[in-house]
Amino acid sequence: MTSLGTASAAPGEMDTGRLTVGETRDGTTVGLPVAVINGVDDGETLYIQAASDGDELNGVGVVARVVPQLDPAELSGTILVVGIANYFGFQVAEHRNPIDDTKLNRAYPGDARGSSSERIAHATFEAATRADYVLDLHQGSTSRMINEVRVRCGRHHRLHRKCLELAKVFDCGYILDQKGPEGQLARAAPDEGVPTIDPELGGAVGWDEESIEYGVRGVFNVLRHYGFLDGETEVHPQTRAHAFDRYGAPSGGVVDYRVELGEEVARGDTLFRVTDVFGQVKAEVSADNDGVFWRSRRLPQVASGEYVCSVGTTIDQY
Ligand SMILES: [Zn+2]
Repeated sequence: MTSLGTASAAPGEMDTGRLTVGETRDGTTVGLPVAVINGVDDGETLYIQAASDGDELNGVGVVARVVPQLDPAELSGTILVVGIANYFGFQVAEHRNPIDDTKLNRAYPGDARGSSSERIAHATFEAATRADYVLDLHQGSTSRMINEVRVRCGRHHRLHRKCLELAKVFDCGYILDQKGPEGQLARAAPDEGVPTIDPELGGAVGWDEESIEYGVRGVFNVLRHYGFLDGETEVHPQTRAHAFDRYGAPSGGVVDYRVELGEEVARGDTLFRVTDVFGQVKAEVSADNDGVFWRSRRLPQVASGEYVCSVGTTIDQY
């Protein structure tokens, strides 16, 4: 029998339930929705979580599509799923947990007696570190972003190669291979010996079907490659960035992009112009380095100094 919260499944069974992480302000129990899919045959354990950031809903779309397709009778090993990690953020579709104004993905490995986010981090970290692989499904919040996978342990980490392999198998086509900030699940779980990636499934308000498809395909690639399911996964070379250049608006107005997401840019190429509302060009911003146009703001209007876009740099193929 394998349990996660109130979900318990014997080999060949699946179950859903709740993982208690505390109480709301009115004293109602907070239970994260969880699923256990226990394969009929022995094998490894995969942990998947979605909505660590409460406005990042594509991962929830992936979970909602993947879980009904899983048949424990065809599965070797176990899949543990937390369908919504940032419970409070999800209720109001906000990035951070409004109870403590914290980003859940800066609170790992968490603290059972800590803040609201630290408690959620603690409970989900306990589940994640029972696994052999972790997929923490994210996206570029509500901005526009390519589909990519992040490896956050840093290149000197003993699990770097294993995390990179997992990222490559997930196969979004792009990888960001850069040590992440303290408190990320994709940094804390490798410290416990568990290869972990952050698939970043585009960027959308609500659900983006194309990005959700990338995620569904990625999860099944992982399940096949690591022997949870029969079948082969073709592993393709990925375009890998090691850093970002971020660009802000030199003046206020509306942004007119000169390149598309995913397009290669050379140093000196114009990335965007800022015009006034009558289309008069006020400023033009060009790339400082070669790279790939990775991410951009969704709304066209900018104040001077406001974030506009990012270019992934120091690109290679992996
Ligand atoms: Zn995120």
